[in-house]
Amino acid sequence: MGNVYGAFHRRSIDDRDGFWREQAALVEWHKPFDQVLDYSRPPFAKWFVGGLTNLCHNAVDRHLAARGDQKALVFISTETDTEQSFTYRQLHDEVNRCAAMMRALGVQRGDRVLLYMPMIPEAAFAMLACARLGAIHSVVFGGFASHSLATRIEDARPKLIVSSDAGMRAGKVVRYKPLLDEAIALSSHKPDAVVLVDRRLDPECTRVPGRDHDWATLRDVHAGADVPVTWLESSEPSYILYTSGTTGKPKGVQRDVGGYLVALAASMKHIYQGHAGETMFTTSDIGWVVGHSYIVYAPLIAGMTTIFYEGVPVRPDAGIWWKIVQDHRVTVMFSAPTAIRVLKKQDESFVTKHDLSSLRHLFLAGEPLDEPTHRWITGVLGRPVIDHYWQTETGWPMLTSVPGVEATPVKYGSPSFPAYGYDLRLFREDGSEAGADEKAVVGVVPPLPPGCLSTVWGDDDRFVKTYFSMFRDRLIYSSFDWGIRDADGYYFILGRTDDVINVAGHR
Ligand code: AMP
Repeated sequence: MGNVYGAFHRRSIDDRDGFWREQAALVEWHKPFDQVLDYSRPPFAKWFVGGLTNLCHNAVDRHLAARGDQKALVFISTETDTEQSFTYRQLHDEVNRCAAMMRALGVQRGDRVLLYMPMIPEAAFAMLACARLGAIHSVVFGGFASHSLATRIEDARPKLIVSSDAGMRAGKVVRYKPLLDEAIALSSHKPDAVVLVDRRLDPECTRVPGRDHDWATLRDVHAGADVPVTWLESSEPSYILYTSGTTGKPKGVQRDVGGYLVALAASMKHIYQGHAGETMFTTSDIGWVVGHSYIVYAPLIAGMTTIFYEGVPVRPDAGIWWKIVQDHRVTVMFSAPTAIRVLKKQDESFVTKHDLSSLRHLFLAGEPLDEPTHRWITGVLGRPVIDHYWQTETGWPMLTSVPGVEATPVKYGSPSFPAYGYDLRLFREDGSEAGADEKAVVGVVPPLPPGCLSTVWGDDDRFVKTYFSMFRDRLIYSSFDWGIRDADGYYFILGRTDDVINVAGHR
């Protein structure tokens, strides 16, 4: 660890309150918090207690005065050959219409809204509309099989489901509606209503009278709607995101409002270095945590333009992502090693023929980044490629370099150092701490920093039993990953301690 970053990290642990109080000033509070952290019931951490705020306010409304006419979201679909931009003002209008339609369908603060949607802008509108109302969204990856969707409907008990007739992948239509109907039939819980975005991809898409509504029709009904932001206490839930697993009861990672907001804003400053007015391109999907944090919320909180991309990296050709970087002057890009490995098989000129001068860093996460791939992409881009490590549970990086604080040298194959806020260490199976060059379990001494899961939805007991019970006599968050640290303090991830594997960043 560099000296400057080392001191920064140490302070985040030793002066936790002071450190996070400073970070909290990056966002707007309707009412200031009374206490930075309430850790009276370990391992449950409540951040910014008593503070009132709202994710939608910070991602949208807050920017209207200074950047209302700046692009907030650029939707690019190489599947349907579409490009469409929304300024912050237009985004505000769409989110308000959507919030109004949800409210008219009976959605209130604390209600769950399940989104089963492709990468279309309406998905972002719906997430932000939920945040505005204080409703809890639960995004399920579009095209997930109906039995997986059914278990999530069963667990989250949504009042409303927002979906679409179909998604598209590599030119093929994936019909969502039959999967959704089957999932609802399988689940004992039934939503009151379904709102469908009709992309006209599936002419056979059917509606259930009385239950199913048409997005476009409701959007017209609520033209000009102005739905006030619901101010939420910092610890209230913002969303549920299920960790994958096709059998058994799914685990709903529950996130708060204020802690998540502050964690994302701080990460944009210190890690990603994304500034207001610039453009961020994250190639994930809203169905995954990376999509929640770094396609939707964080870039908007930072006042950036976010690229919302539907498509694969090699269509129409392997230059498409780099053309987007060039055309939209992307400064921060975030992708996954699998995608880079796919691109590595293609001609380098797909990358190098584009003007990538705007790009500052490429961040990669989701699975181990092998050294040849790391070397290759660093060479062709000619800029730092930052491998960083995190989990659905944490919402933002646990191991990373932090170039906004100190540019530390990259070691190939290593996601570098513990992120500030994480008292991350390596533990032997008996709970004692491992030394340098010793393979052990990556753990975090609680409290977990802001932004991490606050509990498992509806099951506090499972939260403690799953994540904090690996080591006898010691309350330690287990990542379920093996790791090793070298003498310079660089960490390396060596795979899962359980049997879960990641393919393309998906467990
Ligand atoms: P998920 O919560 O589904 O996003 O998966 C998180 C898991 O992906 C971690 O527990 C690791 O096993 C793996 N992972 C994520 N990022 C990295 C990385 N940079 N290097 C190695 N493994 C990673």
